[in-house]
Amino acid sequence: MIYKPDFEKAYIKATEFLIQIADHDFPFNLRKLFAEFTDFKLISFDQLREQGCDPKLFGSEDAFIIEDPLGFIYLCYNTKSPVERKRFSFAHELGHHCLGHNTDSSLMISDRNLYDKQELEANYFAAQLLMPEQIFSTLKGQGINLAVTDIATYFKVSKEAAQKRLQTLNKRNSFKFSNKQKMWDEVISFGYRNFIKSITSKHYHEKTWHDDEAMEQERQRWIANGW
Ligand SMILES: [Zn+2]
Repeated sequence: MIYKPDFEKAYIKATEFLIQIADHDFPFNLRKLFAEFTDFKLISFDQLREQGCDPKLFGSEDAFIIEDPLGFIYLCYNTKSPVERKRFSFAHELGHHCLGHNTDSSLMISDRNLYDKQELEANYFAAQLLMPEQIFSTLKGQGINLAVTDIATYFKVSKEAAQKRLQTLNKRNSFKFSNKQKMWDEVISFGYRNFIKSITSKHYHEKTWHDDEAMEQERQRWIANGW
């Protein structure tokens, strides 16, 4: 069977989560967020090894979730991964959970197509959670188009993730999933207004500073020319 990724569903689930946690400082501290909003138990790869379980068997170098028959969910993660990568992995695994994915480690072999579809959806969820589309559109409305390095810094993501996000958003520029999205734009831009304000003030400050510097250089040129 061929499965098509449901990006709209991933977008909706991530946005619902963003609304639920809007009081938190952004970019989130994901460990804190997990403690407060999920029942996940966090286990490092080292702890897993101590219990005689080899993380390599689960097919991911960064993180994966294990659901035991009693309903407990364990998020196993590599403490050695770079912070940005850990953040994305946590958000990705949360995506699998919120989207009701089959997280059985054998799926990669038993149904590769379903596995790939779920991976794409979880990545979309993670990107929307860590770099909400609505923040980009609000900033754009104020004349600010973020560059890859800005995105990586402000949203605490890797440059690769920032680059991919820009590509996706540029493609999505002219269409919205549904009318509901317009309402969400407002809810998110209000809920994350402090973060948005911090970016706009930084940008305006830099712009003004550069303008001042340019003016001063111009003035010096006039003086040098005998004006
Ligand atoms: Zn995954």
